[in-house]
Amino acid sequence: MGRWKNGAQCAVMLTFDVDAETLWLAGDLTNLDKPGLLSIGTYGARVAVPLILDLLKENDLKATFFVPGWTAETHADLIGVIHAMGHEIGHHGYLHEEPTTLSADEEEEVMRKGLAALQAVTGGRPAGYRSPAWEFSTNTLQLLQKYQFSYSSNMMSHFIPWQHAETGIIELPVQWLLDDAPFFLFRPNGPSRPIQPAATAYQAWSEEFRGIYRFGGLFNLTMHPQLTGRPGRLLMLQQLIDYIRGFPDVWFATGSEIADYWRTSGENDNQGGMLDV
Ligand SMILES: [Zn+2]
Repeated sequence: MGRWKNGAQCAVMLTFDVDAETLWLAGDLTNLDKPGLLSIGTYGARVAVPLILDLLKENDLKATFFVPGWTAETHADLIGVIHAMGHEIGHHGYLHEEPTTLSADEEEEVMRKGLAALQAVTGGRPAGYRSPAWEFSTNTLQLLQKYQFSYSSNMMSHFIPWQHAETGIIELPVQWLLDDAPFFLFRPNGPSRPIQPAATAYQAWSEEFRGIYRFGGLFNLTMHPQLTGRPGRLLMLQQLIDYIRGFPDVWFATGSEIADYWRTSGENDNQGGMLDV
């Protein structure tokens, strides 16, 4: 028997950070005058998100979409469709600001603006928070508690969730290995890595899945519509889903489902001696 819901051996969380144009505007608003550069982000919202929603529907899967407030305002109809299809919407800053670059007051303002933008689309509060670039300031956890989040998906100290002391926030851990950006993000306007073939990401992700499955962990995959939403990479994502579904007892779930399960499953109690976080 695995530790997950109904004895599942492994949990899988497919997540999409819908940065859209904010990826190119964060930290450099002069890019507002560069429509070519911004169009990379526009592709993510306007073309990739619908393709991803189709893929998820064909596979009968629910995913978690982390959305900056600016994206929710600029592409409100699209984010509304994601929500209406039953996927989870999480907080991802306002204009993709990294909290480490903000004062405490600025960080709280970004938190509030992001919340207001998401609530305007979904009518509810997001349960989850993923920081842009996964960066935390020393205030972030307290802010998550103040604004009643259930979980954070930002830390890399384990591949099994845990509960942050004092705040009670559940952590659904991530890792750069399970992010599409190191493989696919190409910055035409600065130092950048070469673009990797989709097969390279598939190889890395499928072998990491096999390991996480072996140890009964959480396979939390972070993707960006403007990156993984390219046609050839979507075929790779389908291949990965098929590969994962070849294993018995895998629980596909959204972030809030996993956090709710973890909070009440008793697994939390087993973490204390193992983790120093
Ligand atoms: Zn992002």
